[in-house]
Amino acid sequence: MNLDRIIKNKKTGKVLTNQIMSKYTTFNVGGKVDYIVYPKSVEKLIELIKILRSEKIKYKILGNGSNTVFNDEDYNGVIIKLDEFNDLHIKDTIIKVGSGYNLMILAHKLSRMGLTGIEFATGIPGTVGGAIYMNAGAYKSDMGYIVSEIKVLTPELEIKTLYNSDLDFHYRTSFLQENPGYICIEVTIVLKHGNKDIIMDLIEERRKKRLMTQPLEFPSCGSVFRNPPNDFAGRLIEECGLKGYKIGGAMVSPKHANFIINYENATGKDVRDLILYVKDEVKKKFDIELLIEQEFINWE
Ligand SMILES: Cc1cc2nc3c(=O)[nH]c(=O)nc-3n(C[C@H](O)[C@H](O)[C@H](O)COP(=O)(O)OP(=O)(O)OC[C@H]3O[C@@H](n4cnc5c(N)ncnc54)[C@H](O)[C@@H]3O)c2cc1C
Repeated sequence: MNLDRIIKNKKTGKVLTNQIMSKYTTFNVGGKVDYIVYPKSVEKLIELIKILRSEKIKYKILGNGSNTVFNDEDYNGVIIKLDEFNDLHIKDTIIKVGSGYNLMILAHKLSRMGLTGIEFATGIPGTVGGAIYMNAGAYKSDMGYIVSEIKVLTPELEIKTLYNSDLDFHYRTSFLQENPGYICIEVTIVLKHGNKDIIMDLIEERRKKRLMTQPLEFPSCGSVFRNPPNDFAGRLIEECGLKGYKIGGAMVSPKHANFIINYENATGKDVRDLILYVKDEVKKKFDIELLIEQEFINWE
């Protein structure tokens, strides 16, 4: 495959070769990848996908890698990152933002402007596109509450608008997750005017609490399992006696049982094995099937 030359000739955007995915994921795990490409525009993204499809090269859109567990084996394909999709237009309470924009930075910026509704996202280290895919949320709120519409590239490579009611937002899931061929390009968020001091105090209070209750000093992907109805995954895992349980360099956090941390040079396999082990133990003890939040990539 001489993708390098093709992409350079077409001026697609920045291309990196022979990268290690552990640098691009918050678990800090994952093997080599042939190419990481940063398309400069939607037109360049479409051109790139057409080339990859015609050359039968596999590809995957990646945001900030904060919800993914990559295999340690090589990924023989292309990772597409939308970092260049980072335009931001703010008109009163209506915000149009590129899907590659960092959600935490956006949430802080808008909150500091006295806009309310996005405070919940100040501790979520993903991109705006990844947050739509996951319907990321916290404190009884999520993207579904603030997004009015998004622009997507369909699997047929057409640009389309999907409205909130099309997006099927539910607890940590959305239309995009159910239809992985769609790529989010731009997002429109609608907030309200609020009191800046109250908003910033709330954010600070929650930040302090997170630091005390979550193992943010270690690489992780945040909560590993969705909470089952009327219960907490963390409680179930703790009752199985799994806090501090290790496989290789991966450990169930002693601070928060629903976090698995890369304690000491964990491999992707350590992390995946530990996630599956915890899931099995909870099933055995409580007959509850925990749903995994993270996506396993390149394990097929
Ligand atoms: C310390 C920590 C705390 C966290 N806290 C929370 C929390 O409070 N609440 C919460 O919900 N999550 C939390 N997370 C998990 C994670 O940050 C979110 O799930 C986030 O939305 C993932 O975004 P990402 O850009 O990193 O996506 P990635 O992990 O890069 O990708 C996830 C999936 O989204 C797809 N995707 C990414 N961008 C696009 C796009 N533009 N179009 C289509 N598909 C796309 C990818 O292909 C992949 O399938 C936390 C993670 C960490 C590390």
